[in-house]
Amino acid sequence: MIKNRRTVFRSLGFLVFLSSVLCSLFSVLSGCGKPLFRDSEFTMGSFVEVISPDPRAKTIVFNEFNRLDKVFNIFDENSELSRLNQTGGLIASEDLFAILRKSKEFYDVSGGAFDVTVAPLSLLWKRAIKKSELPKEDDIKDALDAVGFDSVYLDENTRQVRFLKLGVKIDLGGIAKGYAVDKAVSKLKEAGVSSAVVNAGGNMYCLGANSARAWRVGIQDPRVAKNLIRKIELKDSGVSTSGDYEQFFVFQNKRYSHIINPKTGYPAENGIISVTVVAGDAMTADALSTSIVVLGREKGRKLIKRFPGAYAKVIDEHDRLFDL
Ligand code: ADP
Ligand code: MG
Repeated sequence: MIKNRRTVFRSLGFLVFLSSVLCSLFSVLSGCGKPLFRDSEFTMGSFVEVISPDPRAKTIVFNEFNRLDKVFNIFDENSELSRLNQTGGLIASEDLFAILRKSKEFYDVSGGAFDVTVAPLSLLWKRAIKKSELPKEDDIKDALDAVGFDSVYLDENTRQVRFLKLGVKIDLGGIAKGYAVDKAVSKLKEAGVSSAVVNAGGNMYCLGANSARAWRVGIQDPRVAKNLIRKIELKDSGVSTSGDYEQFFVFQNKRYSHIINPKTGYPAENGIISVTVVAGDAMTADALSTSIVVLGREKGRKLIKRFPGAYAKVIDEHDRLFDL
């Protein structure tokens, strides 16, 4: 049985509280703020939502996402990432090189829990989720052999990327949306847009404020749609939710998530339903939330402490909320 609770916005746990109707009404009465434009488009494998008082914001954001989709999309055989995966080496574009450099940093700091070379495993499990059957143990073992970022050579001077082992493949699904959100926000700032929310399937950045107030973001109850467990106020921050409640399948009463422990070859299993991370930028929030699902609460707490100003909220399988 496959359960995939993709909502229209594939919100992965987030609802932005803008109450645009109320607020625009209110703004007429008391000048509480400008009306907000809300637009969404399917790009980079999820719905990307842009909320801003500036009508130019959506075009700037969607152009940047569509540009980066051609670089990072593992399911598009013409993307730059697919060319790397097919050939095992190339001179990378600035974006591909930058995201791989960052992926290596997160690999190192997470002790290998965050590993974009998880592709042979993640693809195996994605196929399993689609077919609702477990992968064969031998296939998991074979895939595991090719996993480990140490097998990726990055040359800072020439931007050459080379796989040092046969079978290595990269999947940027745990970091690409956060990277794209940050890039889109840079473009917004360059254009003079000072207030916006960009939400790519639960990987989000809150730029500036919503008129005079911080953006208010609700953390959704993973089990009960539209139920919010906590609200947070954010200005110039990235926030990301990862969890096993969006993409998973149940086999013989056990849940299998799409976030893989690169050490075991099996989906992460820590009794964690979702992790929300707030950080200075969306990419850091994205990579850390994926990492904490793999690491669990204790190691996750140690990891997040290494990022000043970052914090995480974890919901466990009994719907209990923990601050890390
Ligand atoms: P989502 O893609 O739903 O926003 P995440 O940011 O948590 O969620 O990323 C999960 C995706 O990251 C998986 O679908 C897969 O592509 C990739 N992935 C799975 N396990 C790992 C891992 N241990 N390290 C890095 N990326 C991973
Ligand atoms: Mg992530």
